[in-house]
Amino acid sequence: MTNPCNVCHSTDFDELSNVGRDGALRTVICKNCGLVWSDPFPIDTAEYYQKNYRILYKGTYSPKIKHIYRAANVAIERYKRLETHLAGKKKVLEIGSGGGEFSYLLTKKGFDVSAIEPNEGYGNYSKEQYGLNVQIGFAQNLEFTAGTFDFITMSHVLEHVDNPTTMLEKLRTWLKPNGILALEVPNVEAVCQSPKSTFHTAHLFNFNPETLALLAEKTGFSVVQSLVSEDGGNLTLIAQKSEIANAPLAIAGNYEKVFAIVKNHTVLNHYLSQFPYLRLLGKVRKIFDERNATAKFTDAKQVLDFCFSQK
Ligand SMILES: [Zn+2]
Repeated sequence: MTNPCNVCHSTDFDELSNVGRDGALRTVICKNCGLVWSDPFPIDTAEYYQKNYRILYKGTYSPKIKHIYRAANVAIERYKRLETHLAGKKKVLEIGSGGGEFSYLLTKKGFDVSAIEPNEGYGNYSKEQYGLNVQIGFAQNLEFTAGTFDFITMSHVLEHVDNPTTMLEKLRTWLKPNGILALEVPNVEAVCQSPKSTFHTAHLFNFNPETLALLAEKTGFSVVQSLVSEDGGNLTLIAQKSEIANAPLAIAGNYEKVFAIVKNHTVLNHYLSQFPYLRLLGKVRKIFDERNATAKFTDAKQVLDFCFSQK
């Protein structure tokens, strides 16, 4: 049984792809709004994450210094994207806080930060290393008093959630009036990765700027800013809690646009583009940079304190 479109409820869709990063994966696209999702869902999310996390991490996590250094720089770039929207805010919630680098940066900037992380190993690590206030679990199963937060940030989480609509509806209740929601997800229009890496078993939904904005508007947010990363790989949407709009749940031309981009992203076109070579160059540069920068550190907090004091 096929799920209707999570954004517009249409059941009129087209098959978009049959291959993902890990092999066969059926992906469809809504002909009414252009949302892309895995059909059927290849995994039961709760079971998948709980099982995999238990097997892979066994409740412990001890990243290498170079990984923390890398994560620190990702956190700094993320902060730059969100900085103007965080101005004047106090209570912040980060959902999917991972190793805790971004929440720790926010704490150092003076915000009152709460975090949620389903991975017990990562969550406990960030509590121990940086003294963060992290709840272990899924946001879908947790509760906060209505109107608790000024700002909720969620990076690379929404594409893993099995019902993005109910997720955003829930987050809206946790926000104060005019509170801000900052979402970051992969861009389904991206061509910087190999075509077989476009779709992923763990990514149940795939958004482009238009479908992400429509989802936000549908669930009671107004779009403040929509950004696409320089390489086209990631989307950032800044949305403000507002009234639930009664806008039509369709996007003219979006299905045709996304369909054409994905179908045109062939292996040949990929290797004729600059992206594989830029990626390789970037990797080599990163290895040298990380080796130089991290030689003097022995401790996670030391790395973050150093990186965050530089910018
Ligand atoms: Zn749709």
